[in-house]
Amino acid sequence: MKAKVAPERQETAYFEFGSLKNGYIWNFPKADGYSISGGFLKGKGKPEELRQELTHYAQEFGLSLADSHYEEYPLNLWSEQQPLHGERSLLAGEAAGILDPLTGEGIRPAMLTGVRAAEAIAKALGGRSEALAGYTQKIREEWGADMVLAQRLAGLFYQFPKIAYKVGVKTTGGRLNHGKNPLRRTALQRRY
Ligand SMILES: Cc1cc2nc3c(=O)[nH]c(=O)nc-3n(C[C@H](O)[C@H](O)[C@H](O)COP(=O)(O)OP(=O)(O)OC[C@H]3O[C@@H](n4cnc5c(N)ncnc54)[C@H](O)[C@@H]3O)c2cc1C
Repeated sequence: MKAKVAPERQETAYFEFGSLKNGYIWNFPKADGYSISGGFLKGKGKPEELRQELTHYAQEFGLSLADSHYEEYPLNLWSEQQPLHGERSLLAGEAAGILDPLTGEGIRPAMLTGVRAAEAIAKALGGRSEALAGYTQKIREEWGADMVLAQRLAGLFYQFPKIAYKVGVKTTGGRLNHGKNPLRRTALQRRY
């Protein structure tokens, strides 16, 4: 969304849990406006609810969704059964289902699995025929357990946002860390 961001909001990232059923909304101010995004777990919400809730949310920032660029995408979540290699191909990043089901964060895992894919391709080109199958195995070992746990946690978090907020957010002092780069300030809002 392109809109002037008030000075007091320029360094605040907003994460909202509870207003969108079984999902989240976040809002990052940018130089030329806001990037507002929402997501919900498949089968637990409806696209029209997402749009409706984002419309309300944007209004609180004095923004109109109707004047903004709006798009919807499916996010591909981890499946333990999915092989990540073919005869001459590998799946990395979101195509492999490596993204955080709680927030939709997928850039970092896409880069990390991309590095693993490149390593496997180099080995395969060097004549090691098992390298592509080894990639599926390695990604399952490195990410599989975390992805399964993250999906369970996301399901619980969205189902019981009030408790999850108290346990997972309030006890951490209302501050979320994003990898090694803590956001300068994080505003978390509740809607119950
Ligand atoms: C609105 C939005 C906001 C997001 N914000 C964040 C965020 O703040 N932080 C975060 O970590 N993640 C965020 N994500 C998720 C993140 O963008 C993705 O998880 C990440 O980009 C996945 O990387 P990827 O390389 O796997 O796939 P992509 O970035 O989707 O790259 C795939 C590329 O392949 C190309 N392609 C597709 N089909 C073909 C084809 N047949 N031939 C050739 N090329 C093809 C596509 O054009 C694309 O360029 C966001 C996603 C959305 C939709």
